[in-house]
Amino acid sequence: MTTKKQAPVSHQILIQITDTHLMADPDSTFLNINPEESFHAVMQDIGLRYPDLDALVHTGDLAQEADPMTYSRYLTFMRLQQINFFHIPGNHDDLQRFPFKQALPIPTVIDLDPWYIVLLNSAVAGQVDGWIDQDQLQCLEPILEQYQDKYVILACHHHPIDMKSYWIDQHKLKNSPEILQVIAPYKNIKAVICGHVHQDSVNVWNNIQFLSTPSTCVQFKPRQTQFTLDQEAPGYRCLHLNSDGTFSTQIHRLVGPQSSIDQAISGY
Ligand SMILES: [Zn+2]
Repeated sequence: MTTKKQAPVSHQILIQITDTHLMADPDSTFLNINPEESFHAVMQDIGLRYPDLDALVHTGDLAQEADPMTYSRYLTFMRLQQINFFHIPGNHDDLQRFPFKQALPIPTVIDLDPWYIVLLNSAVAGQVDGWIDQDQLQCLEPILEQYQDKYVILACHHHPIDMKSYWIDQHKLKNSPEILQVIAPYKNIKAVICGHVHQDSVNVWNNIQFLSTPSTCVQFKPRQTQFTLDQEAPGYRCLHLNSDGTFSTQIHRLVGPQSSIDQAISGY
């Protein structure tokens, strides 16, 4: 009897950072935290834990002050890391100044064969809530067709599934029913990752994991009616993508002294 030798399962590492909210002046603070410092501390932790990461994606709100200086300083810093990095805009970003990888509406696709990460822009100029426009959805369908025998992760800034926080669910991805209809037939879509909500969450719909990720600066308290800050530390997400189509994921948070969060702050 001969037994067929199975190829060993290998894996690739995808890192998600989100909501850096960088200021034009790197010494400025945002909600009592210096976003530049906490972002750099997160990147240092990533470098120590995952020196061999395969790709890093920033899921938006790169800038709190969407100044050309903010974006150029980010790009300079990231290029020095010598990693494969990508970014999509959030509601605080300026779409005119945001350094897109390729021209809209064509989504950027990160090739981690057999995994493909599709980056969608859900930011709409002048709005806090999100919308993925028709032009992008039309480009998305042939991409999903093309990678039917691969494993796919979608990424956008806004949360497509309610967080059970009244205030932030008003700012969600408003046309998510339409997106869910587009992706429903594709059983190879494994996850949808987002930022925007400054908290860790997992929801499952149609066997797809919907994952939100802590900000690299301030955190929002889960399940609140009104805007409430959380004492949790800045963090990021790691996804281990296995060649057999399974994956595991975890959140890492910074340890050590953080600047104290002012609970009296009532908005941002
Ligand atoms: Zn944010």
